[in-house]
Parts: sequence; structure tokens; C-alpha cells
Amino acid sequence: MKYDAVIVGSGPAGSVTAYYAAKNGANVLICERRAEVGAPVLCGEGISKQIDDFEMLRGTRRWIANNMDGAHVYSPDGTRVTLAAEKAGNETGYVIYREIFDQTLAQKAVHAGADIMMNTQVTGLLKENGKITGVKAQQFGKELTINADVVVGADGVDSKVGLWAGIPTTLKTMDLETCAQHTLSNVEVDKAYCEFYLGKQIAPGGYIWVFPKGDDIANVGIGVLASLHEAGNAKQLLDQFIDAHPNLKKGRPFRFLAGAVPVALPIESVADNLLLVGDAARHVDPITGGGLTTSLQGGQFAGETIAQAIEKKQFDRETLSVYETRWKEAFLRKLKRNYVVKEIFLDFDDKTINMLADSLKDYNFDEINTLGLVKALVSKHPTLLMKLKPLLKVSK
Ligand SMILES: Cc1cc2nc3c(=O)[nH]c(=O)nc-3n(C[C@H](O)[C@H](O)[C@H](O)COP(=O)(O)OP(=O)(O)OC[C@H]3O[C@@H](n4cnc5c(N)ncnc54)[C@H](O)[C@@H]3O)c2cc1C
Repeated sequence: MKYDAVIVGSGPAGSVTAYYAAKNGANVLICERRAEVGAPVLCGEGISKQIDDFEMLRGTRRWIANNMDGAHVYSPDGTRVTLAAEKAGNETGYVIYREIFDQTLAQKAVHAGADIMMNTQVTGLLKENGKITGVKAQQFGKELTINADVVVGADGVDSKVGLWAGIPTTLKTMDLETCAQHTLSNVEVDKAYCEFYLGKQIAPGGYIWVFPKGDDIANVGIGVLASLHEAGNAKQLLDQFIDAHPNLKKGRPFRFLAGAVPVALPIESVADNLLLVGDAARHVDPITGGGLTTSLQGGQFAGETIAQAIEKKQFDRETLSVYETRWKEAFLRKLKRNYVVKEIFLDFDDKTINMLADSLKDYNFDEINTLGLVKALVSKHPTLLMKLKPLLKVSK
């Protein structure tokens, strides 16, 4: 088998890369180890309405479960701060059916001319004189070799493709959120608002989310920093939270999932004959753990770069670096800033989070800018000034 590009993984990053490469003339193959695209779901299923502008999703709405007005953020003492959807980050806008979302993207890629092989686990890179020339894979016990000019690692948080290419991909426990989520039916929720619950006791280094999928059904999940809790603790903390909330406790479980999210800085994403996209490149917001919008953006840049490289018949690092330049322009600054904000928030105790929420509960977020925000916080609770100083530095 010989392709221009072989893409490892049929998540959003892989399918979008395949679509833009195929649409622009490349001969591409997606290898997916699972038996079904998008299943089992590993996601809170929240996404910003920014994706309305994304070409591949125009004209298809089947993946939308619920349309959100905004988010309520709760501090440990129950103080509520309300944000409109467009101010509430990458997870608020729609609650989606993630399996349909992923399948929509994969189908678009296939319509554009990409091939896809399911039940196909990529097991290593093919190399000739040190140069990457494709991948080794296994399908139903059969060994395969697939030659390609470019290999794309779209293989998610536990990416091996980068590692095989010699890129340091190991995540420190302080850069990894462990997540657990129940989808509960028969719950009582405000269908128009996502909810986020903060606090060192309820979710150390993370948060609990309630994302309504319909009138009485919601994803109720937790992310906790791996360095701050013991293995298995995430589900225990989540169950304790649900038990303490009668509107959720009466819920009946439809689905349970557990997974991990990188909350790290992005890594090197390009080498000779190789690109990393999506979670594999750590393109995830370190504050929220949301990676869908950046996977779509990065996938588009990767696919278009591959098509250009094929035209030029050049697959060296320098040619493929167009991809890196484009994603850096689009979202590196935000990811770096939010990484610093994550670190600052880690030092906040519950009392400080309560003070922050108290200062912000009546704030007009339409006029939001970091300086204005810090002024609003400090005018009510002057002791916050010292704690927030580092925020001013990163916002410059
Ligand atoms: C519990 C949880 C909740 C989340 N909630 C949200 C949310 O609400 N909003 C949001 O924006 N983000 C959320 N995220 C993050 C989001 O799911 C990821 O950022 C997104 O899936 C990244 O897409 P991707 O294509 O890079 O990787 P993935 O979607 O992980 O896809 C990788 C694919 O590669 C395949 N694969 C891996 N290795 C191989 C191999 N060797 N051979 C063949 N195939 C392989 C996998 O089977 C998988 O299909 C959440 C993550 C978790 C775990």
C-alpha cells in the first residue's frame, strides 16, 4: 500500500487533516484501531459556537444535542457567576453527540476522497536510513506495511507516533487531568446553562461539570489533576458530588466513561515526514481541558500543509513547518497564557476562589479585559491583588 499521507487516528484532528489534504488533491489513508468512529465516547461533549464557522460542519446539525445560552460557575461556598456562551470558553455553546460529531467529520473526509481502515492498530513507523517512510499496522491479526510520504500522529492523548519519531511526549502528572463522567437521565437541570463547580475539596486542580444534553439528561463529569489525587479517586469524588445534589442524585445512569486530558504546553509538532495534530500535539486549553476547537483548526492547517508539500514533492521539516507556523499564529499565545493561569489557580485555596466569585458575581463580562477584570476583583477584595499579580504579566 502506498499513500501520500497516512493518518493515525479518526478523531476530529485526524478526520479534519484527512479532509483538507484529500480535498486539495492528496491521496490519504486514515488508520483507526477502534471498530467504530467516535465510539466509545470519551468527552464532556461541550463545544463553543465558534465552530458554526467551520466549513466541514456547515449544513449538518445532527450532532447538536442542545444549544446553550451560557454557563454558571459556582465557587466552593455556592456563589454563582454567570457567563454568556461566547465568554464562557471552549466548552460552552453546544452540547453535542460526540459519536455523531466524529462520524460527520470522518464521513466528510471520505467524501473528499480519503480512505479509512477500521480495526487497524498502527504499531510503529517504517524507516529507511532513518527517514520515516510509512507505518506498520495490524488488522485482524494480519501485519500490514503502509508506505507514505507523510505520517500524521492524530492518535490522541496517549500518542505513540510522536514518541516513535523521537519527540518527547511524556506527560508529567501535573500536566494531566484524570476524568470520569456519568451521563444521567431523569435529572433536574437548567437546560440553557452549562454548570462548572470549582474547589480544592470537590475537584483538586480541576472542576466538576454538568452539561445538559436535553430536558432531563446531562453529562456530569469531573477532571482532577493527576498529581493531586490517588488513582481511582476521580470517580469517588464525582459520586460524592452527585450524592450531595438531590437534583442529580435522582438521575439514572446511561453511560459511564473515564479518560485523560493533557493540560500541558504544546510540544514539537513537526519533523521530517511527520506531523502531530490535536491531543497528540497537546493542543488543549490547559484551563478547561477542551481540545475540540483546536483539533479542528490544527487539522485544517495540517491537511492544507500536506497538500502543498505534495505539490512541491518536499516532505522535510522545513516544508511541513508551515503547519506549525499557522497553528502557533492561531492559538499558541492563548494556550501559553492559559497554562500560566492554570498554574496560578493551583495555588488558590477555596477561600480565595470564594473571594474571586464574590467579586465577579455582578461583573459585566461584556466589557471584559484582563485589567478591568483584575480591577473589579481587587476593588472588592484588595487582598487578591498579590495573588493576581502574575495574571497581569501574562495578559500583556
Ligand atoms: C472525559 C473527557 C471529557 C472531555 N470533554 C471535552 C469537552 O467537553 N470539550 C472539548 O472541547 N474537549 C473535551 N475533551 C477533550 C477532547 O475529547 C479531545 O481534545 C479531542 O478528542 C482531541 O481529538 P483528537 O482527534 O486529537 O484525539 P482523539 O479524539 O482522542 O482521537 C484519537 C484517535 O486515535 C485512535 N488511535 C490511537 N492510537 C492509535 C493507533 N496506534 N492506531 C490506530 N488508531 C489509534 C484512537 O482510537 C482515537 O480514535 C474531553 C476529554 C475527555 C477525556
